Amino acid sequence: MAELTPMMQQYLTIKEENPGTILLFRLGDFYEMFDADAIVASSILDITLTTRDRGKDESERTPMCGVPYHSVEAYIARLIAKGLKVAICEQTEDPALAKGIVKREVVRIITPGTVLESSLMDEGRNNYLACLMLDGETAALAYTDVSSGEFYATSIADPVTDNLVHSVCSELGRFLPREVLLCGDSIHNKHLRSFIQDKLCCTVTELPDPVQNGEARVTGYFDCTLKDKGLEEKPLLVSSLAALIAYLGTLKLFSTELGVPSVLTVYDQHRFMELDLTARRNMELTESLQSGERKGTLLWVLDYTGSSIGARLLRSWIEKPLTSAGDIVRRQHAVGELFDQGIVRSELTSALNKLPDIERLVARIVYGTGSAREMRALSGACGRVPSIIEILKPMKTAMLCEWRNLCDPMEDIFTRLEAAICDEPPFSIREGGFIREGYNEEVDRLRALMTDSKGVIAAMEQSEKEKTGIKSLKIGYNKVFGYYIEVSKSYIPQVPDSYIRKQTLANCERYITGELKELEGSVLSASDKLVALEGELFQELRLWITENAHRIKRTAVALAHVDVLSSLAEAAVKNRYICPVVDHSDVLQIEDGRHPVVEKMLSDGLFVANDTHLSYQDRSAIITGPNMAGKSTYMRQVALITLMAQIGSFIPAKAARIGVVDRIFTRIGASDDLAGGRSTFMVEMTEVADILHHATKQSLIILDEVGRGTSTFDGMSVARAVLEYISSKIGAKTLFATHYHELTDLEEQLSGVKNYNIAVKKRGDEIVFLRRIVSGGADDSFGVEVAKMAGLPDAVISRAKTILRELEEQGHVSDRPSKRKPVADTPQISLESLAAEELRQSLLKIDVNTLTPIEALNLLHSLRKKAESSV
Ligand code: ATP
Repeated sequence: MAELTPMMQQYLTIKEENPGTILLFRLGDFYEMFDADAIVASSILDITLTTRDRGKDESERTPMCGVPYHSVEAYIARLIAKGLKVAICEQTEDPALAKGIVKREVVRIITPGTVLESSLMDEGRNNYLACLMLDGETAALAYTDVSSGEFYATSIADPVTDNLVHSVCSELGRFLPREVLLCGDSIHNKHLRSFIQDKLCCTVTELPDPVQNGEARVTGYFDCTLKDKGLEEKPLLVSSLAALIAYLGTLKLFSTELGVPSVLTVYDQHRFMELDLTARRNMELTESLQSGERKGTLLWVLDYTGSSIGARLLRSWIEKPLTSAGDIVRRQHAVGELFDQGIVRSELTSALNKLPDIERLVARIVYGTGSAREMRALSGACGRVPSIIEILKPMKTAMLCEWRNLCDPMEDIFTRLEAAICDEPPFSIREGGFIREGYNEEVDRLRALMTDSKGVIAAMEQSEKEKTGIKSLKIGYNKVFGYYIEVSKSYIPQVPDSYIRKQTLANCERYITGELKELEGSVLSASDKLVALEGELFQELRLWITENAHRIKRTAVALAHVDVLSSLAEAAVKNRYICPVVDHSDVLQIEDGRHPVVEKMLSDGLFVANDTHLSYQDRSAIITGPNMAGKSTYMRQVALITLMAQIGSFIPAKAARIGVVDRIFTRIGASDDLAGGRSTFMVEMTEVADILHHATKQSLIILDEVGRGTSTFDGMSVARAVLEYISSKIGAKTLFATHYHELTDLEEQLSGVKNYNIAVKKRGDEIVFLRRIVSGGADDSFGVEVAKMAGLPDAVISRAKTILRELEEQGHVSDRPSKRKPVADTPQISLESLAAEELRQSLLKIDVNTLTPIEALNLLHSLRKKAESSV
């Protein structure tokens, strides 16, 4: 250290105090980064990497790069997007007054899960930081979105570790945090860590040491008792909340004198439908599979919210469908009332349109990162609340009345902020200029001094002339004496005693007075004083908003709910949805159901509606049909309609009865996980295994093409065994699409299984898709015809037809019942007969003339093994 420059010594000391961060070190108008930080940041930010001396030995240079202070936010955004943490180190004393090196300290650490700046976040989604603790059979999960002050906490218990980890992953998938704190045993759980880092792409921080005084931290922070929040019997959950709060404390996010408007919700995981990450992705709830965009998702169809607080809440409703029919029906009633009240709905739409983001504005103001612009925006939002309350007055349903009553008109906040902050405040509060004229007398006086100092001097000159009767009296200014009063020689006898002579010139004398000096002081320091005074007034307002933050926040939550309910009603009207009957029966009955997204993508009237009848009696539907017929669309439609019903939304159907499901599972499409060391088939089987281990009788399972990624016989065997297991052992409602037409025989052999197919018509060489689901198995896959439609060259199509014909003639083609016996007469194809067929195929492939004796022996040995294993 002694060999280093004082600045490098200071840098390294601060760097050591802030491990794991990129340290942005303020040097004049720049934030500089050094050493390894500079190397990492220069490549991410695409800025020049230079060097500078680091100590007495001038040949030793340290890597360095820097960014200008005024545009630092954009650079921070890029570092955060890469999952890095950034420590902001400021100069904390005036360089002009500093003795030796200027004092510097880290004023804030920004991490991906704790950003507050709007430019670093997506306004339509929450930005969560999660904290996970594992202890034996229990897991505790605590979340917060610091930008809106929301905290959530839940504990999960399961004696089987695999099940526990599965539930934790599902829960993490629901909140999609950007940063996760791993505490205790969770640090060493490889499966969890890989899910968090690789699947959720989160920044991970390990907190191996337990936090002291957990209970006091939690009760102090939320100003509650453990009993208030149902936390008395949940020490692990208390510890995890305490760890979260302690971590926030290390980031210097909030100053201690100010309270944070934090709302803690402790919830039971079973209050919400469980959806793992695979199901969320496959159902395209908030991101499309193809592009990752919002267009083409359920959120895109349902989102008619006007405010970002509403947009975020709608997203979280979609991520958290309910499992209590009572709760769902309460939402339905509110949506229904707004559905019926077109005028109220349209008034709400315009009142909520582009409503400023109250939650995040308040958080930024309270945390001290907000400017006068944020206060101005908050005031604009508050100003709209009374009219929204007024619009809601005629509403009668319990939920709308409740949210209306929770809205605070906030007239006092609007009035005070309107009076205090000017119409177009500057970007930063550092230079002042944001307090409105008339709000504070001193501000007005100082401004008048600054802008009208000439006028003030002229007024004083006039008043001195009148007082002394010296007509030629003048007030002037020079750099040596500052302001002075000049009196020509002939008037000197009239000069009052209070004048102090400062200079004698040939024709005149110059004086100063106490009043003039005071004025001079005021004029010259008015600018500094004004900035300081505006800063004080800003802090006063900030404190006042903090004191009122809870009622502002409560109103924001109420407005968000009104916005979401109104959005669901608007979507229902626009898309011709109906209100389903939701109960706790085992029935899933949909009349003329439509896929909410596909119908929006097609031109009007082109989507063909279909029915669904599932119950425990008829729990498994095997859906066959040609390629492109609409099997996947149909199955996803059933899953989406069920989910929509469970968030309280109306649904695209003519009528429906939806018995609440506890989970929706999906196994759809082919994707590999090469980086994770899993082939396409391995991914498919892992997903199926997950379903078989975790589905219950109350679950809904969508299986699209199980077993396609391997040989026909292996695949068909796995598919059949899976369906048998689900139907007889689990009893979940299942939609099972397959091209293995042999599986349709299961209808005869297993109770609860029914065959359906999606009808097509053959017209000459062409096929016409009718998109209608009908009872019974399909005749054909029409794969070659669909390949032709896709544009395969004629030569390939014609060759494929020849091969297909030959295979049919040899009796190899298994998915064409038309060439087989009618379905009803077909005996069950047992696993034994499948194995015998495989053995036969192997024998036919042998070219006896070219086999060497040793090859013949080996072959015989392997055939015998195959035969043994099939017994
Ligand atoms: P494959 O077996 O090849 O996977 P599939 O039977 O699963 O095909 P889908 O992918 O569901 O077929 O549907 C193909 C296309 O048909 C969809 O992209 C959609 O445009 C259209 N489609 C599906 N169902 C309907 C419907 N009910 N009404 C109108 N168009 C539909």
